Amino acid sequence: MQNKVVDVEQSLSSEDEKANLTDRDACFQKGKKGNFDLFYNVQVGCNEQQVILHASVCKDANDRQQLQPGIEGVEKNTKQKVEKAIADAGYSSFNNMEYLKKNGIEGFIPDQDLGKKFKDQPYHKFHFKEDKEDKENDELICPAGKRLKYHRESKENKNTFKVYKGISCDNCPVKSLCTKAKARTVRIEVREPLQEEMRERLESDEGKMIYKKRFHPVESIFGHLKFNLGYYHFLLRGLDKVNAEFYLMCLTYNLAKLFKKTAILIRFTAISSLMMHPIVKLYCYPSLSKNFLYVILLPFVMLLHIV
Ligand code: SF4
Repeated sequence: MQNKVVDVEQSLSSEDEKANLTDRDACFQKGKKGNFDLFYNVQVGCNEQQVILHASVCKDANDRQQLQPGIEGVEKNTKQKVEKAIADAGYSSFNNMEYLKKNGIEGFIPDQDLGKKFKDQPYHKFHFKEDKEDKENDELICPAGKRLKYHRESKENKNTFKVYKGISCDNCPVKSLCTKAKARTVRIEVREPLQEEMRERLESDEGKMIYKKRFHPVESIFGHLKFNLGYYHFLLRGLDKVNAEFYLMCLTYNLAKLFKKTAILIRFTAISSLMMHPIVKLYCYPSLSKNFLYVILLPFVMLLHIV
């Protein structure tokens, strides 16, 4: 407690305009409605049956760092290897694609440019294609059919890029539309082939079908928690407590789901046996009145429906 008081006093005396005194772990992030507020980032991994297999809460403003811990969490909890990973564009990064490839996991994660053909930007990087027939020279072919040679390597934010430079730009009639520099340069991340592979997979009929399935299981979990149960806010404060609260919520979600499935099975079995019962009775005791049997059975059937 004393540490917390000191911490708060330091925050108040600092020059920061905003000091979060309510929850020291929550971060100011942009919400889906465009508002800035205190948020935690909630992560859920589930299967097609909408059973939550892994859950966590973190402070990151985006989801890119959460794919690997999510997959590892699912594998740890289920003791099974994850074969396919489906996630939205927020999880797309070269690091994640590399991780999936290394671990033999088939990924279905769109990037933000998937489906964009840049038709209104004919000299966009997208239209510069690798010369697949001449891999030795490592060149790109521009939209005008000229060549760009490998020039150098550059590093930025843990990404490594190959920089290509045009060799025939001087005499190019469309140069003014393509570049203002002496020669056009194009940067390609060295792991771009992984992204190409991912795009091809997602644009296939099977890929589209698999990705479409993603929205149903995971979004309906969030939909149920938020809209049906009204769980919009955490009740506790601090990352550890918020994590524990969310685990508990996910645990009860799974238990309710299990209970519902079991209840349906019990109800189905009971109703089936009740329906068979009069037939058996009438067959064994033809002297008993059929109406008499239904009067006895009716309350049981009603009770099962209430349960
Ligand atoms: S400026 Fe260079 S890269 Fe651009 S279209 Fe012309 S030749 Fe190709």
